[in-house]
Parts: sequence; C-alpha cells; structure tokens
Amino acid sequence: MSGLTFYAADEAAMLEFGARLAEATGGRGVIFLLGDLGMGKTTLSRGLIRGFGHQGAVKSPTFTLVEPYELGGRRIYHFDLYRLVDPEELEFLGIRDYFEGDALCLIEWPQRGAGVLPKPDLTITISAHGGGRSLHLAPHGPRGEAWCAALQAGQQRHHQ
Ligand code: ADP
Ligand code: MG
Repeated sequence: MSGLTFYAADEAAMLEFGARLAEATGGRGVIFLLGDLGMGKTTLSRGLIRGFGHQGAVKSPTFTLVEPYELGGRRIYHFDLYRLVDPEELEFLGIRDYFEGDALCLIEWPQRGAGVLPKPDLTITISAHGGGRSLHLAPHGPRGEAWCAALQAGQQRHHQ
C-alpha cells in the first residue's frame, strides 16, 4: 500500500479522524506527525488521546517535550520535539523506555529527533487544503498497513 489521503474540513473533523485512528491502532505503535506550525498536529493528537477515553485537557507538550497518558491500561506518549536542539537530549529523557514495551507514541516534529527515534509505523503529513486540511498517511511496514486498511474500510462505510 503506497498511502492514503483524507480530508478534514474543520477542527471537529480533525478530532473525529484522531478518534478513528485511535481505534485503528489499538493503542500500540509509533506515529510521526509532519506539517508546519498550525497545521493541526496537536488537534489530531487530542482527538486520538480522547478517543482512548481521556476526558481532560490535552496540552501541547512543546515545553515538556513529552506528555504521558495512561488510559484503560494503555500508555500513550505525546511528543512535541519542536524545541529540541540536539537529538541527544532525548537520550537524557530516557527515550528508549518510551519506545520499549507496548505504548503508542505520537511524535510532532520527529525531524528534530532524527537518529535517536525509532522507525515509525505510520507517517501523517498534514497540509492546508481548501480551508481545511489534507492528511496524507504513509505506512512503513505491516502494522501501519493494517491501520490504513482499517481506516479505509471505515471511510467506505462512512460514505455509504
Ligand atoms: P500544530 O500542532 O500542527 O501546530 P494545532 O493542532 O495547534 O497545530 O492547530 C492549529 C489550528 O488549526 C487550531 O486553531 C485548530 O483549530 C486548527 N485546525 C485543526 N485542524 C483543522 C482542520 N482540519 N481544518 C481547519 N482548521 C483546523
Ligand atoms: Mg503542535
């Protein structure tokens, strides 16, 4: 599978897409979120984290680099590496512990962590399109492909 493109017309659609992605992943894996500032990476993460049942705020981890969630026995780590100066800082954070085990890691600005981050299961590239956002999903391996297949099947049901 070479990839999939979805369109989210507004913030509500972005949150809904996040919730559908949560369901597709089952709460385990690594997702890279690409796109300029203001494209909706944090909004998508918020929809996903709420999709796992989180009721409170989902703040942008710009200053903390990572925000952990524990939801229904699942661990979700939401990273924003925008302010990371050197990928080595991630080693000090104990980054490997986050990627071992069976957590779901969402990573905004993964480019900043090049060389230290593991390979993602899925890359989502968000760009502005017709007042909303276009989301391009590129799977990297069987797990990401299974997620895309589940999302595509859901999309077809959606439009029937
Ligand atoms: P990022 O994390 O990529 O910097 P944010 O998630 O903080 O971006 O979102 C920036 C703005 O984009 C917010 O005001 C949000 O409401 C808006 N937004 C998010 N998704 C969409 C969408 N699909 N269409 C239009 N606006 C959106
Ligand atoms: Mg953000």
